[in-house]
Amino acid sequence: MGAITGASPAVGSFLIHRSNRRRTMRARMAVQSSNAISVAPILTGLKNDCATPLPVLRHVADEMTADMRAGLAIDGGSELKMILSYVDSLPSGNEKGLFYALDLGGTNFRVLRVQLGGKDERVIATEFEQVSIPQELMFGTSEELFDFIANGLAKFAEKEGGKFHIPQGRKREIGFTFSFPVKQISIDSGILIKWTKGFAVSGTAGKDVVACLNEAMERRGLDMRVSALVNDTVGTLAGARYWDDDVMVAVILGTGTNACYVERMDAIPKLQGHVSPSARTIINTEWGAFSKGLPLTKFDKDMDAASINPGEQIFEKTISGMYLGEIVRRVLYKMAEAGALFGDSNSDKLSKPFVLGTPDLCAMQQDNSENLEVVGSILSDVVGVKLYCHCMVKSDLTARKMVVDVCDTIVKRGGRLAGAGIVGILHKMEEDSRGLIFGKRTVVAMDGGLYEHYPQYRSYLCDAVTELLGVEKSKNLVIEHTKDGSGIGAALLAATNSKYGHDF
Ligand code: ADP
Ligand code: MG
Repeated sequence: MGAITGASPAVGSFLIHRSNRRRTMRARMAVQSSNAISVAPILTGLKNDCATPLPVLRHVADEMTADMRAGLAIDGGSELKMILSYVDSLPSGNEKGLFYALDLGGTNFRVLRVQLGGKDERVIATEFEQVSIPQELMFGTSEELFDFIANGLAKFAEKEGGKFHIPQGRKREIGFTFSFPVKQISIDSGILIKWTKGFAVSGTAGKDVVACLNEAMERRGLDMRVSALVNDTVGTLAGARYWDDDVMVAVILGTGTNACYVERMDAIPKLQGHVSPSARTIINTEWGAFSKGLPLTKFDKDMDAASINPGEQIFEKTISGMYLGEIVRRVLYKMAEAGALFGDSNSDKLSKPFVLGTPDLCAMQQDNSENLEVVGSILSDVVGVKLYCHCMVKSDLTARKMVVDVCDTIVKRGGRLAGAGIVGILHKMEEDSRGLIFGKRTVVAMDGGLYEHYPQYRSYLCDAVTELLGVEKSKNLVIEHTKDGSGIGAALLAATNSKYGHDF
């Protein structure tokens, strides 16, 4: 990693036409020294503001635990909604038959079918397709979005064959993974509270999203039935639990972020009425809305103010894939404007929100080349920064290192805070059931594009968890990637909640 510190000049070597050489050199030297003064303090300030030493992490974890309790006490008692999933029985491994899953997550929607063969055969076959959601549908009407989804599902269902088969007279059942905050009413219905992750679809908030999908399927003449509405974290937990009984928590780090966990019914005061002490359910925390104790910068606050949901989803805006690139872009833009990080090259493109994606940060952090070639080409292609237009379109190495350092600062904060959030959940569970979390093997199932593809983010997350728990407790904890668990998980929950009952 190209971490650099101190007041290095931001502009170094350059090529100049001979005739202008002296004059330009003097001008450049002046820019260099002023850059050294103006860029370095921005980076130093950023690092200070983003710092996550152990006391900060501890505070965040404690606040997470406290907010979880407040959200379980009464509806609206905390930023964390602590939503009941209505998933009271987790997959056992005995599930049999053909089930579909549909996953509306943010960047893409995915359709999947799985033929389940019970304890011995398990997953006999699975197939999926992924469709990216056209930008305009994110700002369109509810009907347009759901028609698009029903259409994709219908096309996929038409291709069913081979190892997949459904008994005569039976409707195909779907587990619908819907990764936005929903007030679940039953296992197969739920009201959209609000769109997040950049969606601003009109006419869905306040409606049952299963009804929206059913209506669209009817319009399309598609005879399928949603038998489970599942948050993606809940799907991930169910999918991981199918293979491993020790899975107690699931966390998604993708476009957005969320977490769920297995809770005791008698630890949910807002669930009125008698519940047996042994009964368990899954709670969807909606932890993206958390905000307490987070080390935030001016860049975060500006990004939030410019977002379509200002003041909301602050944890999500600090740690998830949709936003990390944008925070870095804002820092780089400030460094380019105020500190001439990229010399006098034009930073118009860099002024455009969201031009820099989290996958770009990731690619830059994997660049092991001596001259940081990948960083150079991303700066040139994505951000439009070309230092020396008349020659070889290269930004200076020191500036490149500084860019990587900014990425690392933002990604480190994100990963470590995500780790603190996980510890907050584990502490809450351990407090209520001594020894049942840290006294035995416990698995946290992780999924989402950010966690999957960003190795530095992953290791910062794990470091923070180990720092907070200490070596002994960490030994029993397994943080593991459950790839596409939510798809299979949703299909498994469709099986568990099939209207045809269980023949297993
Ligand atoms: P969703 O959250 O929309 O369901 P994913 O879990 O696939 O979808 O996550 C997609 C997100 O993951 C992207 O928006 C991006 O922020 C992040 N991501 C994808 N690829 C990479 C990558 N190579 N490096 C870092 N982040 C990535
Ligand atoms: Mg997803």
